Amino acid sequence: MTTTVRQILQKKNIQKIITVSPEQSILEALGLMAEKDISAVLVTEGERLVGIFTERDYARKVVLKGRTSKDTKVGELMTQNLLTVSPSHTVDDVMQIMTDNRFRHLPVVEKGVLMGIVTIGDAVKTVIDQQAETIKALSGYISGEMSI
Ligand code: AMP
Repeated sequence: MTTTVRQILQKKNIQKIITVSPEQSILEALGLMAEKDISAVLVTEGERLVGIFTERDYARKVVLKGRTSKDTKVGELMTQNLLTVSPSHTVDDVMQIMTDNRFRHLPVVEKGVLMGIVTIGDAVKTVIDQQAETIKALSGYISGEMSI
């Protein structure tokens, strides 16, 4: 059976979604990313999801353009046209969207409410776990150990 985004989020068991405001500096966002050991932060205004800022944005929009992270606000550089998924999407949908769009993060939104984020690492782990389950079931079947 294919794993859903809802199941991925449940397994991650994240207590709090890591977010920054558009007014915060890039330096603050990077500090938070380092502290929490994550590669992207979601940008929110109140409860509203307004963007994403990832390590790739830092490399290309700050370092390469000669900007300083202390004097630049997240809101100036974040990606605003977000693609999101809902909890009922499957891991296959996630992989497809990430591959088609060449990014590694997908915010999860349900009825306008931010529920979390799924990364390419989460998706790869889920697919590997799924395959391991399938191999186990098939091995049991082949060796006649299945109970049904
Ligand atoms: P990433 O590979 O996730 O580091 O992102 C590559 C680029 O795509 C960066 O400019 C990100 O801001 C942007 N990006 C990442 N995730 C999303 C998303 N879900 N929707 C739109 N853009 C995104």
